Amino acid sequence: MNATKNSKKRDAVRAFIMNSSTHPTADEIYSHVKTEFPKVSLGTVYRNLNQLEEAGEIKRLSFTDGPDHYDRDTSIHYHYICRKCGRIYDMPSGVKEAIVNAVKSGAPGTVESHDLVFYGVCSECLKKPEIKDKV
Ligand SMILES: [Zn+2]
Ligand SMILES: [Zn+2]
Repeated sequence: MNATKNSKKRDAVRAFIMNSSTHPTADEIYSHVKTEFPKVSLGTVYRNLNQLEEAGEIKRLSFTDGPDHYDRDTSIHYHYICRKCGRIYDMPSGVKEAIVNAVKSGAPGTVESHDLVFYGVCSECLKKPEIKDKV
């Protein structure tokens, strides 16, 4: 085991997540890291993802039926999932502030955690014409 090589792979995994705003899956991260390290295995990518998650550098999102997604933003924020393309977007922080303020004044006690996901069709998909022969 070569420690330097391993940390370089972890750097590549981290960099890809940090540069992505759409919460990539392990498969997407794997195919990217593979371009830099052709011999890397999916297992190695998962191991690095777990290490980064344990270190609190990234957050794992598992609220879809599909594979887990990885988030560069570990603070509480809300997500928007497009039901057409499956992309996960971050909701603007103003939405959170408004909801948190409303909850603070109405909750019967302290609120320690919460999570919110919105579903819809993203503007990218709304721009695309409907493909008739595809369900
Ligand atoms: Zn979409
Ligand atoms: Zn996010």
